Amino acid sequence: MIRHAEVVIIGGGVIGVSIAFHLAGAGVRDVLLVERRFLASGGTGRSVGIVRQLYPTPETSQMVVRSLAVFQRFHDAVGGGESGYVGCGVVIGVSTAMRPKLEETVRLQRSLGVRAEVLEPGEVVKIERRINPENLGAVLYEPESGYGDPTAVTTGYADAARRRGVRIEQGVEVVAIRTAGDRVTGVETAAGERIDAPVVVNAAGLWSTAVARLAGVALPIIVGRHPVFVVERDASFGRPHLVYLDLAGGSYARPETGGLTLTGSLTDDETRHPMEPDLLGGDVSLDEAADVLARTSRAIPRLADARYRRGWAGAFDITPDWMPILDESPLRGFWIATGMSGHGFKLSPAVGEMMAALITGAAPQVNPAPFALGRFSAKSSSGTFVASYLGS
Ligand SMILES: Cc1cc2nc3c(=O)[nH]c(=O)nc-3n(C[C@H](O)[C@H](O)[C@H](O)COP(=O)(O)OP(=O)(O)OC[C@H]3O[C@@H](n4cnc5c(N)ncnc54)[C@H](O)[C@@H]3O)c2cc1C
Repeated sequence: MIRHAEVVIIGGGVIGVSIAFHLAGAGVRDVLLVERRFLASGGTGRSVGIVRQLYPTPETSQMVVRSLAVFQRFHDAVGGGESGYVGCGVVIGVSTAMRPKLEETVRLQRSLGVRAEVLEPGEVVKIERRINPENLGAVLYEPESGYGDPTAVTTGYADAARRRGVRIEQGVEVVAIRTAGDRVTGVETAAGERIDAPVVVNAAGLWSTAVARLAGVALPIIVGRHPVFVVERDASFGRPHLVYLDLAGGSYARPETGGLTLTGSLTDDETRHPMEPDLLGGDVSLDEAADVLARTSRAIPRLADARYRRGWAGAFDITPDWMPILDESPLRGFWIATGMSGHGFKLSPAVGEMMAALITGAAPQVNPAPFALGRFSAKSSSGTFVASYLGS
């Protein structure tokens, strides 16, 4: 059977559904999103969902400001659904060496609408007395930042996209991409179906290099392992802590309902731990949990009494500069929205908005040049995840 669509989006994570929603909003009538398993079954469903605003460039700063505004009033902005956004505040601790860069970055960001202030380490007690200020050179406080629910955002965008006429099909895997000359012409599914389309969007997250290869396009992306650990705070801990990202000590802690805290590493270079995407959600070892929990306990000493509950193997689709690729590929009509490098949730509303503008030929709200696929020609991988906060 041969079917037709104006745009086929491959991947039902938070990025794919945001693009679908925004394309339909931009007037594209016949959008089909295909997801090989179920919505949010990829990296999105394993995400920690932190929304911090510290970003090193004007473009990423503008994108996170635009996205935060959507998370804060998701129901109204999207016309239904909930983002589960909790604006508890985010504190970011940096070393003395990082402080000048932090101050310079925050000066720029404030001119772009980010609410944030740099404090002396000792002043952190005014905001969260359980954070250990030792070994910090400065502290950044973002009062409006926090965390959201990536699965809820995915469902919310998907439902809203359907109301705008988008078809979303789960359990449909793309196994071939059809081309004619230098143009994409559609896809083929594992069920043997052919779907003709002049525009195909690769939003396949951790699987996006494999999907791009189907079209003969190479993407400079490494899938790197990023384990997450869950601890139960001691009853004496009191009210939940806010989100703490300790760039100096190399760990993060984000509260979860039920007296739980999600934590993970901020110093490991995930690119040195390549992972098969299909191992997503797999086991973690007690040794690696112990290593990260030791760092978290130095950052928030009262967490030393927390009980380890569980963990899972997450993974990031990492580009050489730890920033997304949002661009048309050399195969005309074949668009790339991937390489989110571990921070695609917090940017997802703005990514959908930008991709819809690029695909329909409208003027993007944010300059897309830093996200071009061609920017990597002369670059090799640089830095760790911290590069996405303060640059490398
Ligand atoms: C452990 C972890 C912690 C994170 N923490 C944060 C955080 O605190 N803050 C933040 O902003 N971001 C965070 N992220 C990153 C963020 O969650 C991701 O960047 C984002 O969810 C990626 O969404 P996506 O839609 O690009 O990819 P995915 O969610 O991976 O979706 C891609 C989809 O494509 C489908 N697919 C693949 N191949 C095919 C095919 N051939 N045919 C059809 N469908 C296909 C997959 O099944 C999958 O559902 C974290 C990620 C992880 C894993």
